Amino acid sequence: MSRRQALKAAAGGMALSAAAIGGARAQDAQQADPTAPTEEESAMAGGGEDILPFAPGWRRTVVGDVALVTVLDGIRPGEGPHPTFGEDQSAESVAELMRANLLPPNRFANFFNPVIVEAGEERILVDTGFGPAGLDNGQGLLANRMAGAGFAPEDITIVALTHFHGDHINGLMTTEGQPAFPNARVVAGQAEWDFWTSDAAKNGPAAGNAKAVEAMVVPLRERITFLTDGDEIVSGMVARAAFGHTPGMLAFELGEGENRVLMAADTFSHFVISFQRPDWHVRFDMDKQAAAETRRRLAAMLASERMAVMGYHLPFPAIGFVEAVGDAFRYVPASYQFAVEEG
Ligand SMILES: [Zn+2]
Repeated sequence: MSRRQALKAAAGGMALSAAAIGGARAQDAQQADPTAPTEEESAMAGGGEDILPFAPGWRRTVVGDVALVTVLDGIRPGEGPHPTFGEDQSAESVAELMRANLLPPNRFANFFNPVIVEAGEERILVDTGFGPAGLDNGQGLLANRMAGAGFAPEDITIVALTHFHGDHINGLMTTEGQPAFPNARVVAGQAEWDFWTSDAAKNGPAAGNAKAVEAMVVPLRERITFLTDGDEIVSGMVARAAFGHTPGMLAFELGEGENRVLMAADTFSHFVISFQRPDWHVRFDMDKQAAAETRRRLAAMLASERMAVMGYHLPFPAIGFVEAVGDAFRYVPASYQFAVEEG
């Protein structure tokens, strides 16, 4: 089955024969590591839903003193990218840009990539995916794939939230309404909290999301430290304002010198459009103008400083670099930059 066929099959809700593949993998994993989930546990947690070629759905990248473990919560293939991306453009001009980049004109795949940052003794989970409610749709695989990568929920010491959209916060709670990461404190943006807990949000067009915040984030209030631009989360990890997509979205800047990474959250949600056409409107950007300004500002910074970028919705494992091209940019997925020492 080709990659494209696999994504199409998944889009149609057709179970891939990956149930068998996933089962075999679970058995192998169990022989190697008796604490790995059994075939049955994997199936229950949606572990049989691996969409090749992204299996096993986690990837560890070492950048200087930190390790970044991307854990793919799931993929959502579907129609698009127009009108989600380029909402203010014609369908044809978006299709044309896709063809020019060797992508299908009318189909795309959205990725959901929480990341575990290993920094000293801290295990910082950045965003939490769809949670158990996502399993029916082939998402919500974070917990299962974390286990595959060797992490128990108890190992997470800090959960850092970039913003409060459902695909980032719904993994905070178990189906029983308990904290999914029982030993973790939480860090989140002050402006994001202020907006989503306001009457304006609860009664506005995003009221549904405000309800999710009420269910997932508000119960954790006592554990939350609120952040503003420039605040340090742990030594070497700093919050940066990236407002626009939501009123209080934060990016997280990590590392120092040559080894810096900007975790840009949903600033760049399509690896072609967000960089090559940063001004095009994105349906999910709550303030389209501010989001475009943030995109340009951060892309210019990333390009001039040759800093690595991670993006929650970029293709797994969601790490790369940004090149300035004319008045816009280009995303360069990481290849072996982090696997070799510079001479
Ligand atoms: Zn998102």
